[in-house]
Amino acid sequence: MMIPVRCFTCGTVIGNEWEEFKERAREGEEDPEAVLDELGVDRHCCRRMLVSHEDLVDVVSPYQ
Ligand SMILES: [Zn+2]
Repeated sequence: MMIPVRCFTCGTVIGNEWEEFKERAREGEEDPEAVLDELGVDRHCCRRMLVSHEDLVDVVSPYQ
């Protein structure tokens, strides 16, 4: 599925950081910790939203 727009715990908007995080830390070579620090995602509740997210849209869509 797509990343939630807001952090489940504190409600901070984190959906806008996903594309850059994915490009740099998942597909790129950069350290996820450094990328999150640079994006200004300081709280660990918000950081886990990005670190633990997996895009499943392409996996699920053929079955709908
Ligand atoms: Zn949060």
